[in-house]
Amino acid sequence: MYDEGARRIDLWEVGRRVGCARCGVRRTKEASPARLERWKLLVDMVVQWLRSDGTTEAANDIVSDFLSVADPVTRGIVSDWFNGVRRIVHPEDGELDADPLKPRVTDATDSRYLSAPVTFAMDGESGREEFRLVTGRKGTSELGAAIYYADAEPGVSLYDLRVSDGDLVAIEAPPDGEDLIAAAFAEEASLPSPDDAPTPGLHCYSCPSAMRCGEYPKISDGEPRSTTRTVTLSRSNLSELTRCERRVAWHKVHGVPKEDESVGFGSAVGSVVHEIIAAHLAGSSPTEALGAARASCPPDQWSEVAYLFEQHRRVWDDHVPVKVAAVEREIGFGGMMDDPHGRGDGAVAVIGRPDANGWEDDTTAAVIECRTGNVVEPYPLETEFYAVAAWEKIRSMGRSVDRVAVHHHHLRPEEPICERRVFTTEDLRHARTTIAEAARIALSWDPDDPSQPDYTVGDWCVTCPFENRCKNHRT
Ligand code: SF4
Ligand code: SF4
Repeated sequence: MYDEGARRIDLWEVGRRVGCARCGVRRTKEASPARLERWKLLVDMVVQWLRSDGTTEAANDIVSDFLSVADPVTRGIVSDWFNGVRRIVHPEDGELDADPLKPRVTDATDSRYLSAPVTFAMDGESGREEFRLVTGRKGTSELGAAIYYADAEPGVSLYDLRVSDGDLVAIEAPPDGEDLIAAAFAEEASLPSPDDAPTPGLHCYSCPSAMRCGEYPKISDGEPRSTTRTVTLSRSNLSELTRCERRVAWHKVHGVPKEDESVGFGSAVGSVVHEIIAAHLAGSSPTEALGAARASCPPDQWSEVAYLFEQHRRVWDDHVPVKVAAVEREIGFGGMMDDPHGRGDGAVAVIGRPDANGWEDDTTAAVIECRTGNVVEPYPLETEFYAVAAWEKIRSMGRSVDRVAVHHHHLRPEEPICERRVFTTEDLRHARTTIAEAARIALSWDPDDPSQPDYTVGDWCVTCPFENRCKNHRT
């Protein structure tokens, strides 16, 4: 029997709080429950299928019973998933256990436990098989497998059933399972206090605490609460919003599964160059910065990387001097707004990561963003966002600032370019209003209906992770 007094450790939360002490601590309400709703629908349909006679008619009846009232986008996603499951498991495979025990391990004092989720099990001729339905990209982690096999019945196997591609992946017990479990307990025991300072990073973009952690200033009155429905946008989402609402809504509100995004040669080069520039701006000498990246950079990309870094040095040595205060640090802000779809307030937070920020002089703040692409591609509202984010952050720290200069360094042209735009206080107020109005759109989308947000077809569709699904839902 399990010790009922033991406390369950939420591994997701531990992972987040290792990255930032406040992540997930004072949350606001997520933008939409769509992900969870789709998951529940799928599980109910699969259980019904495995209890049926396994005929095509039975499958069609299940789709009709569960999905006839769903919106077309949800219907498309869940029926694709359901078909993926049907290609792998069939009622004749064995007897269904729709509520299998979750394997779990407790710590040495029986006060905490870790558990491994299992969705259903089948008892067939060859024994018992247990399954996890995996709708995203991440399957069972090594730690998850270690927990599972530490408590599973002998002879039982675990499989990840990847519903989007209809793959069945056998999950093996990792050789160092005990060490992984011990490390997880130790990590949870040494989590930082939620009162420690926040540590912004890439984890902020999916953090439920962005409106309440204190890192991102509020630009409006009103206090966010746990019931405040919140959409968190990145600065690229803000640009995308000016082109196609559906793309942002599907990503940030409805969590529509993305199609595979392959990383092109250009973007791999861009990442390495940004790493080297960051090291340089953080204080490394150019030789050190380049040397550190050389080992990990594919040889066929090195000449391009070296060229772009040299272009950075040229523009850096030649432009208005900036005293760098922070490198690749997230800045942003949030605003309280009426939520047309909620019973209370709503909020939108916008976060971005410039290559560097600092000061041109005592009262002129600076933000620097480097571009390595071939085209001097405009990112609508990006410049305004960086200016306002820097301004609000500095003011929230009690320091005065008269102007903010945003520098865009275009490194690809033979003659590298520094585009520098200076915002006065009046410009900043105006830009803040413009961004707030654009961000407000994110609360206007019906959180229960992904088919509702408008779409706009354009050149930008070629980089959209929803292109094929979007085509199926155009009217
Ligand atoms: S938004 Fe970022 S800084 Fe704030 S709590 Fe979350 S992870 Fe930490
Ligand atoms: S494919 Fe184009 S129209 Fe469709 S969501 Fe993406 S960007 Fe919008």
